[in-house]
Amino acid sequence: MSKIKVLPVHLVNKIAAGECIERPASVLKELVENSIDAGATRIDVFLEQGGCKLIRVVDNGGGIDPEDISLTVTPHATSKLADEDALWSISTMGFRGEALASIGSVAQLKISSVVPGNDSGQTIEVDGGQISQKTPCAGSPGTTIEVHNLFFNTPARRKFLKTTATELNHCQEHLIRLALAYPNVAFSLMHGNRQLLQLSATDSPRQRISDIFNPQLADGLIQVFTQTKNITFTAYLSRPSQAKSSANWQYFFINKRAIRDRFITHALREAYRGLMPPDRQPVGFLFLEIEPSIVDVNVHPTKSEVRFADSGLIHSLVLGAIRERFLSTDLTAELSLAQSTQSADSPAGTQPENTAEHQQKIKEAMKDFFRTNSQSTQSKIKFFPPKSQNSHPYGESTHYNNTPPSPSATPKPADEPIKSAFPPITDSPSEPLPQKSPSDEVLPPSSTATPYLQIHNSYLVVETPDGLMIVDQHAMHERVLYEQLKSRVNSGPVLKQKLLMPDLINLTPAQMAHVEQIKSSLDQAGIEVEPFGPQTLPFIPCRQSSPSLTPPNSSTTS
Ligand code: ADP
Ligand code: MG
Repeated sequence: MSKIKVLPVHLVNKIAAGECIERPASVLKELVENSIDAGATRIDVFLEQGGCKLIRVVDNGGGIDPEDISLTVTPHATSKLADEDALWSISTMGFRGEALASIGSVAQLKISSVVPGNDSGQTIEVDGGQISQKTPCAGSPGTTIEVHNLFFNTPARRKFLKTTATELNHCQEHLIRLALAYPNVAFSLMHGNRQLLQLSATDSPRQRISDIFNPQLADGLIQVFTQTKNITFTAYLSRPSQAKSSANWQYFFINKRAIRDRFITHALREAYRGLMPPDRQPVGFLFLEIEPSIVDVNVHPTKSEVRFADSGLIHSLVLGAIRERFLSTDLTAELSLAQSTQSADSPAGTQPENTAEHQQKIKEAMKDFFRTNSQSTQSKIKFFPPKSQNSHPYGESTHYNNTPPSPSATPKPADEPIKSAFPPITDSPSEPLPQKSPSDEVLPPSSTATPYLQIHNSYLVVETPDGLMIVDQHAMHERVLYEQLKSRVNSGPVLKQKLLMPDLINLTPAQMAHVEQIKSSLDQAGIEVEPFGPQTLPFIPCRQSSPSLTPPNSSTTS
């Protein structure tokens, strides 16, 4: 007796769904890609429970012909592949004709579509693989697709779904990638009654990056462009100083499809080699437009990987273009000066000093510092305590239990010469700091003081037994506050006092989702946050009794 059976269609669909429908975000991606393929210029997404309960995608695209609507949920039925040759030059996001059939087999699916120019359209429903009769519907031109209760009939898959926040995060990430690839399409994203994204159509990829992330990040990106007969490469890359600790801020697109690719990843890393520490990752938005016949997109069920006819060529083109651009860009100057003076260092409302002047001051300070060390008898800079007394700059302990003076507490006039000393570290953080006059070059000896030079009210250059150490005093200050806060939280409830006006901070959708997750920990630390618009949080840092807790760079995201 024959043991081999041809599987029934509903089972084939479920198996196919296992390949391309992993979680709500995969459904969202397939639906939005369909809307893009249909020429939509506006796509609105509504989610409930991170997409597990409902995903609704509404577009204003070309719609589905009434006679075709049943075919949309038939496996391997597509309007995008005319013949076999078309498989080797795909220019649409979809082509496998599998997504809607797969989704319908593991969820409750409803498709309503009105072709522009028609008064009415058709609706069809699929409930766990059971296809309903089509019925007439009214509505605006375009297509609305709803997916309810994903995996309601496949408990094994449902078990793998994570929390609402995590699933929502994945949905946002997928939508962001599509939005980055298609800046000329307007997008919106609602979760329940909360708006998470509202993006107007634009011709400018940089504007889209700015709308999704933040203008500071977008404005600072370096644009790279190169073109050959078959390939156009455009990228927006961070300066090395804007690098992040993870590669989450790297987006690669081939023909507007978000992909992962180890050749491009490697080329990007190579381009930054030597420009930043090896454990940092650049921010990068890389767009390759490649003649479809030299790239195969049919190698992965979710099309998140591609195969190049010549991957070495892509690697060298990306690497070469970035390197060439970096060679003609002054990366160092902007990273050491513009950055440090424009961020937390500039008191609100003051203009940063001119870059050339800053550069000159730093050069002079370094010159002075080394001259002092080599010819101590003629030194203009005096160190306290005398150079012979070599101790750790902040005491012997490597734990920074003392609070250094807040940089903002000792404002430095713009024309003030470089300081030669920094006030000794005090044990009492709330104690008023000694005010220095511009002529103060030297502070009285102190038993805890160690020779150090302050540059630009930002960096401390300190002698160590082996040479010198440069300390970013803002980072150190933040660390000290962090350690203090940590010990307060560990030792009981933190005293809070509300600010009169909450501080507003802009976050990316992913960061917003993360804040939701850590809300109770923030609360424990005395920080109350409430959503305020799609990407803005009123950040209500509650003043600690002492010292004051100021969010580092509260006006920016990091
Ligand atoms: P594919 O996109 O690979 O063709 P799908 O299962 O995603 O397969 O969709 C099947 C077909 O349904 C598409 O080829 C398209 O003709 C039609 N379709 C799906 N979504 C839309 C939409 N939003 N607007 C117009 N047509 C759509
Ligand atoms: Mg599709």
